[in-house]
Amino acid sequence: MSSAETIHVDGVWRAAASGAQREVLDPADAKTLAVVSEGGADDTDAAVAAARRAFDGGQGVWPRTPVAERAALLRRVADLLQRDREEIALTESRDTGKTLEEGRTDVDCVTDAFRYFADLVVNEGGGRVVDAGSDTVHSVVVHEPVGVCALITPWNYPLLQASWKVAPALAAGNTFVIKPSEVTPLSTVLLMKLLVEAGLPDGVGNLVTGAGDPVGARLSEHPDVDLVSFTGGLASGTKVMQAAAPTVKKVALELGGKNPNVVFADACATDEDFDTAVDQALNAAFIHSGQVCSAGSRLIVEESVRDRFVAELARRAAKIRLGRGTEDGVECGPLVSAQQLDKTEAYVASALAEGATLRCGGAQPEPDEVRPAGGYFFSPTVLDHCHRAMKVVREETFGPILTVEVFRTEDEAVALANDTEYGLAGAVWTKDAGRARRVAGRLRHGTVWINDFHPYLPQAEWGGFGKSGTGRELGPAGLAEYREAKHIYQNLAPEPVRWFAG
Ligand code: NAD
Repeated sequence: MSSAETIHVDGVWRAAASGAQREVLDPADAKTLAVVSEGGADDTDAAVAAARRAFDGGQGVWPRTPVAERAALLRRVADLLQRDREEIALTESRDTGKTLEEGRTDVDCVTDAFRYFADLVVNEGGGRVVDAGSDTVHSVVVHEPVGVCALITPWNYPLLQASWKVAPALAAGNTFVIKPSEVTPLSTVLLMKLLVEAGLPDGVGNLVTGAGDPVGARLSEHPDVDLVSFTGGLASGTKVMQAAAPTVKKVALELGGKNPNVVFADACATDEDFDTAVDQALNAAFIHSGQVCSAGSRLIVEESVRDRFVAELARRAAKIRLGRGTEDGVECGPLVSAQQLDKTEAYVASALAEGATLRCGGAQPEPDEVRPAGGYFFSPTVLDHCHRAMKVVREETFGPILTVEVFRTEDEAVALANDTEYGLAGAVWTKDAGRARRVAGRLRHGTVWINDFHPYLPQAEWGGFGKSGTGRELGPAGLAEYREAKHIYQNLAPEPVRWFAG
């Protein structure tokens, strides 16, 4: 495979049919990092046709490959990911801008996802016998693969999001075409190589690098695609759903979030408690420069502790070491693109125009020895005196911006936390166990953390309420997305029904 042959169809690496290429930029200095094939609609059609053949006939063995063998392949991929951990982490760090340590963590989480779905699929034990109320009927519900799956992923966690789709899709016996973000396609190319090395039959897994439109758009409308699993922004997700509607394919959407981090005063009772709550609020908002779907971008803090909390938060946020993610000592990388940088600047400007108070950040930092000029760096920003009507509070900024709102009562805290069109994740910080459970029960978000922020488990479902999406990834539901239930009803002693007399 030469550097620009990044399209994988039917077991063959190749360039785009048009010969088009795209430069992938290093967000730390805006220089070219790699060149990839820029796939088009014809490459997409070829990939879907290969996936269709691999599912339906010819070499259509994957759906009928014993579950134990499919699981064994996933485990081989997990082992290969660990073998190449450092190379993959470095690629992910350079491509997305995240720190090398975050890249390593991603590879470990991806490995866990492959192992989890391998275990899940072998341990669940086939179909479910249903009591049909008769000795002469044998009734069973079995689960079959959906068919050809289109997997469309974003740029913030390219490999992780790919694994949450590829692993269950393969475990369930589907074939797929994956389309990574055009901004960060490199780790998905590495993953595809590992799938091939692990022995994935030709055509079962296909990869088309290219833009959302045409590649993602074509996948979404394609009559031979049975399911689209999409992770990305609300605007693109809406287009995917619309494009998929005429063919009534299954659609799973993992979209954005505007995630509240609710801090009660009792969570700051001692200096140690206070330090923990502040530290986690910092992590919630600024890890990966806030480019996380579940980023805790809305701090909703009890009024009595607000001044102390925000002062400490701003003091620490201002000290976050920004730089190229591969440099030692760097805590946060750049934003992924010039577009993200422009968007972040515009959100800060709109917040200030609407009356927010800038407590730290708000601009690009000066270049230094770990922060090249031209990189898309933006200083972690804390905006105080925000309110629910502000654009910066309502919309997902996907940048290093933390807004601060205050509450006086539990009801007010819950109302603020739920006042979003999204519903991906949220947290509540309190020492009062009853209140913790009450608030967790009332939050309309797909994940609620109590006295924590960000952890997820492969065995627990991930996904959103409201406009954060449809469906779930991870956990048993994350496998069920890639399956059709089929009821097989067998009459062991057939007789005439005599419904019709003649
Ligand atoms: P995006 O919507 O711009 O792009 C996501 C993917 O969709 C890319 O591969 C892109 O090429 C493709 N795409 C764009 N237009 C398309 C179209 N018309 N049809 C089909 N595909 C199209 O999102 P992004 O900027 O790459 O990622 C950031 C977004 O992803 C944020 O909103 C974030 O919250 C969300 N996200 C959600 C989760 C989650 O688990 N819910 C996880 C990670 C990221």
